Amino acid sequence: MESLEAELDEARDLDASDIADAIEAIGFECTRCGACCKAVECGDDGDGETEEHTATVFPDEIRRLQGAGEGDEEYDFRDVARPMPYGLAEGEDGPEGETFEWALQTDDCGDCTFYAEDEAGTGACTVHGDRPLICRTYPFSVALDGTSQPMGEAVDGEDMVRAHECEGLGRDIDRSDAEELAAALKERAIRELEEAIAVRDNYEPVDPGPGEVVVHDSEGQKRPDGTPVE
Ligand code: SF4
Repeated sequence: MESLEAELDEARDLDASDIADAIEAIGFECTRCGACCKAVECGDDGDGETEEHTATVFPDEIRRLQGAGEGDEEYDFRDVARPMPYGLAEGEDGPEGETFEWALQTDDCGDCTFYAEDEAGTGACTVHGDRPLICRTYPFSVALDGTSQPMGEAVDGEDMVRAHECEGLGRDIDRSDAEELAAALKERAIRELEEAIAVRDNYEPVDPGPGEVVVHDSEGQKRPDGTPVE
């Protein structure tokens, strides 16, 4: 595996017009089914088990989403983000341990907290203009180590661009929409690698203590409410 710095150089050198070509060849149109914003139903044995929606959100994206409340109202940090669950242990009083980065907060059903459906079942993002890069670029990702892959298996791909399970794949896409997606995808790859490098460089071992969670992000060590660990 190449160093994160080498991957970052590769991400910066990505040709957005090649990415747009690949997106055009695969084809995509959002059907507003909401599948990328909702919990995943696990298994088909009818036990009702679901896997919570999990999408990475960067610290500056969390701050932007906090400001996306109605009027002057700010969302609380915990209304927007939760510690990324991977790596946490299930303690007596809930999750505990250390984790890296943040995930979008989920509601009681395990769906993204910002997802809403109208009476006809058509899905909408209530923070559309402020949604994070991972949402702007779904269902695509780039094939570079150190970048995150969204939910869903990779089902299609053209060299550097991968497409993940999504019912909107294969539909015609305008060149201008493909170019916009390509630019966001390149930006996301760069941001993910910059974040990964900063997480590595700012890492300080911390003993969270029983029942506590510490999140190591690109800005240091934080509690689940986003405040720094002293
Ligand atoms: S922020 Fe919006 S687009 Fe992203 S997962 Fe939530 S509802 Fe979907």
